[in-house]
Amino acid sequence: MNKDIKEVLLSHEEILTITKKLGSLISADYKNSSKPILLGLLKGCVPFMSYLMNYLTFPLEIEFMDVSSYGNDIKSSGDVKIKKDIDVSVFNRDVIICEDIVDTGQTLNTVIRLLHHRGARSVEVVTLLDKPDGRITPFKPKYIGYVIPKVFVVGFGLDYQQYYRNLPYIGILKESIYKK
Ligand code: 5GP
Repeated sequence: MNKDIKEVLLSHEEILTITKKLGSLISADYKNSSKPILLGLLKGCVPFMSYLMNYLTFPLEIEFMDVSSYGNDIKSSGDVKIKKDIDVSVFNRDVIICEDIVDTGQTLNTVIRLLHHRGARSVEVVTLLDKPDGRITPFKPKYIGYVIPKVFVVGFGLDYQQYYRNLPYIGILKESIYKK
């Protein structure tokens, strides 16, 4: 897999440092909250969320949704589908959505609207990566790990056609891989 990577953007150590910082910021903000839901968006959130939750020092529940806007392509389809819904009620709950990367913002806009519609008390977003140049709908996550340019990245949960999720770092995929 390493040979398919053009450039490493974040090493594993850098990801750990960023995740710890995010963990302490969120822990300070939620110390008086009543058992928030940390809601991971599958599948890309898995490595980041499993690291992040170690640095969250307040009682919480974890939940998952599987919402897809990319299919197997490198461009967001804009068509957001809910493939797996959250298993508990969010009514009157604080929800922290955990994302791997925010690009167009469409996935999060859809999920946030849905959670508010269901009566969540608050909804905030923590994302490991932010690609603000990709935005179609204006959106700013509250907790951002690292801002990247408009490039297609893989690793640490992020895939291309379901591959590369198990790379321990984040890297830019060589164009030759998806322009075959
Ligand atoms: P959005 O709705 O913000 O366009 O899409 C967010 C989702 O698109 C992310 O959760 C991720 O699955 C996918 N995505 C966006 N940018 C990238 C990228 O650079 N690489 C990969 N592998 N997935 C991305």
